[in-house]
Amino acid sequence: NLSRLPLRCWAEIDLAVLERNLHLIRASLPPHMRYVAVVKADAYGHGLPQTAARLMHAGADLFAVANLAEAAALREIGPGWPILLLSPLLPDEDRYVAEYDLTATVSTSDEVRRLDTVGRTAGRPIQVHLKIDTGMGRLGVWHEETEKLYAEILAAPFVKLAGVFTHFSSPDDDPAFTAEQRRRFLSALARCPGLELSQLFVHADNSAGLETLEAAGPFNAVRIGLLQFGILPRRESLLTQVRAEPVFSFKTRVGIVKKLPAGTAISYGRTHTLKRETTIAVLTAGYGDGIPRAASNRAQILVGGSRCPVLGRVTMDQTIVDVTDIPGVASGDEAVIVGRQGDGEISLAEFSHSSDTIPWETLCSVTKRVPRLYK
Ligand code: PLP
Repeated sequence: NLSRLPLRCWAEIDLAVLERNLHLIRASLPPHMRYVAVVKADAYGHGLPQTAARLMHAGADLFAVANLAEAAALREIGPGWPILLLSPLLPDEDRYVAEYDLTATVSTSDEVRRLDTVGRTAGRPIQVHLKIDTGMGRLGVWHEETEKLYAEILAAPFVKLAGVFTHFSSPDDDPAFTAEQRRRFLSALARCPGLELSQLFVHADNSAGLETLEAAGPFNAVRIGLLQFGILPRRESLLTQVRAEPVFSFKTRVGIVKKLPAGTAISYGRTHTLKRETTIAVLTAGYGDGIPRAASNRAQILVGGSRCPVLGRVTMDQTIVDVTDIPGVASGDEAVIVGRQGDGEISLAEFSHSSDTIPWETLCSVTKRVPRLYK
């Protein structure tokens, strides 16, 4: 039983905060908006089963996952939960859409044909959301060609249109292009005869999209990932008004403390040389846990509630910080990579920035070695 062993690096996940965040996001939206909870990549590293169960309890209307394995895992937890598969199906995956009762995303005629075959075999129609590429250049039918694919869906007896959506490429830094994507989406829909938008999920907005979402218009659902975990998609986001709070903190401990003379170089490659006599703490986490190597010589970690600079390269299992100015640091003490300690706080955004990455990637980089503790 490994769970009785003391921890050396772990994540704390506050599910009560997650639930409150969903309510706060909902309260900031027009009441008719449905909530699509994006829980791909193990719910952004927060743990799929626990996170999804709490989001369902909080009133999520639909779950979005990236791939079949995630969808199957989610289906095991929630036999009746509606699940949208965001990424394309590979040909040898088709039949599982029926087996796991999933809603598929379609971008191509080939997908419509294949799903029609799956539905025919299953003896019931397969639900799909039609994805429109309005400028992301990734999935979806190119917006100018929407009518043709729409007609093919209508003509496929075993494919049932349940939603239409698009995805923004730069909602956090280019409001003009985001507005253009909305226009392209609406104009593509307007060219589809007989489309009853009120009967469908109509969605475009991820977390950052909410900043420019207008109550008027046919949008009746949002797809929320990052914000439900209490993280803003950019600094000084209008979404501070939502008051969502971080769900995730990332912690480790002090392995040893020792004093080294000025002039000593620290860690692989000797990229940092001590300018003064320095007390270092060797922390029991490294890139094998999810502290990116790019945090070397840049990030800060809280020890005793104070910010301690990372010295030298982050290694697989250890990270070295300067604790010279913090009295009484001892082996076993807690250190906080992301979260609060005493009066100190290091946000996921700050930690990601000082590791040359974005919060989404930081969360996905926390490895399997790190137990998630739920409260
Ligand atoms: N919709 C799609 C298609 C996505 O790929 C993602 C995440 O990458 C989201 C919604 C959620 O985005 P966010 O985490 O910024 O809310």
